[in-house]
Amino acid sequence: MDRREFLKAAGAGVIGAEAAALLGCSSREPEPAARGRREEPVSNPRMPVLFTAHGSPMNAVEKNRFTEFLEGWPRQFPRPRAILCVSAHWETPELAATTSPRPETVHDFWNFPEELYRIRYPAPGDPALAEKVVGLLRGAGLFAHEDGTRGLDHGTWSPLRRVYPEADVPVVQLSLSTGVPGSRHVQAGQALASLRDEGILILGSGNLVHNLLAARLSDPSGEPEGWAETFDDWVRERTLAWDLDALAAVEKAPFGRESHPTAEHYWPLLVCAGAAAGPSGARAKVSFPHEGFAGRTISMRCVAFA
Ligand code: ZN
Repeated sequence: MDRREFLKAAGAGVIGAEAAALLGCSSREPEPAARGRREEPVSNPRMPVLFTAHGSPMNAVEKNRFTEFLEGWPRQFPRPRAILCVSAHWETPELAATTSPRPETVHDFWNFPEELYRIRYPAPGDPALAEKVVGLLRGAGLFAHEDGTRGLDHGTWSPLRRVYPEADVPVVQLSLSTGVPGSRHVQAGQALASLRDEGILILGSGNLVHNLLAARLSDPSGEPEGWAETFDDWVRERTLAWDLDALAAVEKAPFGRESHPTAEHYWPLLVCAGAAAGPSGARAKVSFPHEGFAGRTISMRCVAFA
């Protein structure tokens, strides 16, 4: 939030008068001694770290309990200056961040209705943020590079279309790194934690149980499989216990392999947990603003780290 937006929000009562006064944004005339002093920049509010489920690309157009939740979610946190979205649908050998100032909308799914392929999510990019992300990752000893050609895939735009339908918040997408242990994704998040104090929303997009082979898509309203519920509960409980080591070793978790035959829809949670922990590994306040299953084997649980 820049100063103008902050003042607008303060005027609209979004930010309390007390907080505005503390940040030097009182509408009262400044004291004589303060006149002529150089104006200090208003600091950005510390952002939460969020993990969103995304499920079927149809959530971009259908109305259901999950999409209604997404539409109301932004009322629960400050408006970000930009979003860094870690999508389950972009895997690269080393971490990569999108640098395009106008990232394209990628329709990375097949055999869906035509209307989905017509959707554009024209959020601007933020090349300076992407450059900073790569610098922070490299500074932490991780392999990372800038990618000037990649656009935003549906892991990013299908939920964001609900959260910020005007597409007026800049978005940088971050990839997952193939062939590395889960702990490396926690480290990546830790390296990026300082962005939270710069008004950047770190958003992971995946599903905490994701087994399409067992999903029985013909029966999307069916009750979840027992093993899927067991794993979903395990993630909830280990996250609340702030057991990052256990979370990072998903293959050892009860029904971890059934829930994630491949781990890409789980890994964004690890980046989020790392970003919430920061370099010190501090315990974060965790909540689950949305829970439930889409069919038998797709968890729609969302996580907020304060
Ligand atoms: Zn997906």
